[in-house]
Amino acid sequence: MTERLKDKVAIVTGGGSGIGQATAIKFGEQGAQVFMLDRTPENAEETKRSIEEIGGLAHVLECDVSKPDQVRQAIDQAARMAGRIDVVFANAGINGTMAPIETMEMDDWDQTMDINMRGTFATVKYAIPHMKERGGSIIITSSINGNRVFSGIGFSAYASSKAGQTAFTKMAALELARYGIRVNAVCPGAIDTNIDDNTYPSDDLKEVQIPVQFPEGHEHPLKGKPGTSEQVANVVLFLASDEASHVTGTRIYVDGAESLLRG
Ligand code: NAD
Repeated sequence: MTERLKDKVAIVTGGGSGIGQATAIKFGEQGAQVFMLDRTPENAEETKRSIEEIGGLAHVLECDVSKPDQVRQAIDQAARMAGRIDVVFANAGINGTMAPIETMEMDDWDQTMDINMRGTFATVKYAIPHMKERGGSIIITSSINGNRVFSGIGFSAYASSKAGQTAFTKMAALELARYGIRVNAVCPGAIDTNIDDNTYPSDDLKEVQIPVQFPEGHEHPLKGKPGTSEQVANVVLFLASDEASHVTGTRIYVDGAESLLRG
């Protein structure tokens, strides 16, 4: 079978865990040379080993996406090493602080926005000079939160950052179309990853939560459980590949209809 990303060069932010890890491995399996930008390089090194075990080529560059200088340097370095960039998966993100709006610290709001929203902007911005001659594909990991789901009380910063990402996806798709750069977003529902490690519920959160409970059943209509990172990675691979050559400026929900039940 032909490799779908043969000879392509891909950047993946947050390739050390979860959705980024599964996608980096899938990209490697499909013939791409993968550069993982992660603030925890030890984890990304494990992903690199997995890619190498299946015969792929991967590199780890330590980078905090909320630090624009680090993003620019890492992307420039990847372009220098590989000679081109074809695919960018702007995926690194955190849930961050979950707190009532009234008591959420400004710094907590900023941390979520800096990583999720500003980090996405920096990743796309600094990739453009390396993509505009040949074109390529940019995929942004947004969420059902902020797009279809607004019931995650305490998640105001997270949901706003994820809504911002899909607005930015559409703005970028139109602006970058002239260069043959496609820009799309994936909106996962609950996916089994390590994101809970980056979720900080405040002590007073229960004071604003609305006690909605499913009297019976669960919130995962399709399979009765959260999705997997591989299920998201398959969609990202499609968007990265030439099979999606006329798809740009859109968001694809990967949630087993969870958002239709919860929205
Ligand atoms: P995860 O915690 O398993 O992986 C996130 C990765 O991003 C980690 O390797 C981490 O080191 C890296 N990272 C975090 N902050 C970073 C920063 N500032 N700079 C560089 N790297 C950073 O989480 P995940 O669930 O795979 O999350 C990936 C994306 O998917 C996020 O944008 C998240 O918002 C989104 N998402 C996740 C779910 C879910 O249920 N897991 C649902 C919808 C959207």
